[in-house]
Amino acid sequence: MKKIIQFTLALLCSLCFSLLAFAQCGTQFTPQDIEKLNKYRDSISSLVRDWKRTRGVRDVPIKFHVAGENSVSLWLIDEQVKILNHIYINANLRFIRYDEPNYINDDRFNDYQIYMEDDLALTHEIPNVINVFYVDDIPGYAGYTYMAGNYRSNRVFISKKYMENKSTLAHEVGHFFGLYHTHGKTNDAPTDEYVSRIRDADNDNKKDCLTTGDDCCDTPADPNLKTHKGYCNSNCTINNSPSRVDPNGDYYKPMVRNLMSYNPYKNCRDTLTVEQLMRVSMIAKNERASLKIPDEDLRTGKKVAGRVVFTMTNQDPMPVTKDINLYRFDKLYKWGDSFTFSATNNSDISLNMYIINWGTSGTMNLLYPVKRYGEEADIKTDATYSFPQNFKLTGKPGKDYVCFLFSRKKLNEVKLTQYLQDAEGNFTQRLYSVIGENSVFDLKLLPFDEVDYREGNTINFSGFLEEDEILPVMVEMEWQQ
Ligand SMILES: [Zn+2]
Repeated sequence: MKKIIQFTLALLCSLCFSLLAFAQCGTQFTPQDIEKLNKYRDSISSLVRDWKRTRGVRDVPIKFHVAGENSVSLWLIDEQVKILNHIYINANLRFIRYDEPNYINDDRFNDYQIYMEDDLALTHEIPNVINVFYVDDIPGYAGYTYMAGNYRSNRVFISKKYMENKSTLAHEVGHFFGLYHTHGKTNDAPTDEYVSRIRDADNDNKKDCLTTGDDCCDTPADPNLKTHKGYCNSNCTINNSPSRVDPNGDYYKPMVRNLMSYNPYKNCRDTLTVEQLMRVSMIAKNERASLKIPDEDLRTGKKVAGRVVFTMTNQDPMPVTKDINLYRFDKLYKWGDSFTFSATNNSDISLNMYIINWGTSGTMNLLYPVKRYGEEADIKTDATYSFPQNFKLTGKPGKDYVCFLFSRKKLNEVKLTQYLQDAEGNFTQRLYSVIGENSVFDLKLLPFDEVDYREGNTINFSGFLEEDEILPVMVEMEWQQ
């Protein structure tokens, strides 16, 4: 009995702690930030209409700095990177931990206060990457960051007290890429957003949900879960008991799992809506384009190079243009068109090559190597592999994908094809979630900045490939009836 009481007390206390210890987020959006973000509203709406489209994936380098008395393990840091990738691959972003964490041995920062920020950051931060600083405590806050545009804007500060939950870093990264809180553009004020999605109180021909709250219409109006925490419970479902109404008399039904909410059960915050994801994607492209993996000259690994050529059966070339690291054909092809392709290894070393196709029927097909035909992945220096037949576009029109993966190590291509089939999302999202996070393969996709991709009639590529890396060449073909 005594044990049960102790256990219950311990459980109660851990619940008390998780609620009482709720610290808000210290990120503030200035009027200039808000004005800048307002510019993107219309283009975000057009992206939302086409959100399922396969797009290239943007790499985001992230550098970790650890100050203060309590250390943070590399394992915990890598877990945080996995969480970011799990959420933000849906916005076509892939986070890469840049170099080893920087453990800062300086007693001055054992008792961190926000006024010390420049002293800490100016000495250690690296340009053009996200610099995450873990400090022992940020009195009153779990974390904070800035919008693009001032000299501090590549910094994120996280209190170590909140780093073990699954959402604090991902929440701040959401702000970094232009997301507001679901209760609006301030930290404490009640929302200015109505529950109804059809009002247009200011008669500007825009639904109010596009210009109030977090400017996203697919996140319901949120009265602010810090002051209305009764909506939340440890099961991450919504309690309707607070029954608050907006000035119109409609009941609030906030999205308690939203990453950008103030749900005090921080592990419940694991969801972003389509509009939020497309907003992140738009801000990454336009306001965070300077993010880049540094030290081009310090790249290690073997230099590799090659080319992939698609040709129509009538010998016409098939030029391509890049969308980040996804190639698209410049022409729209038609039902009945036929073509073939070849791939050449111009490296000084043999490379393994795997070719996978995702057809319009939704099936992943391994095109090469097929063991029952006696094919081997290995492509020797200066050897060219030519696909032995012509593809004829028949069946359901739409978008077809062909992906070439070059690696130094052998892959289990049958398992990879199956994992890609079972994954979720569009083609690039499937590839990045399967090879990025799945330890079955123990391999990772080479960062985009480390490949020189050329477009035109021929796809040329070169880069430096480590033993555990894969260089992808992804091609999208659109065709119609
Ligand atoms: Zn916040």
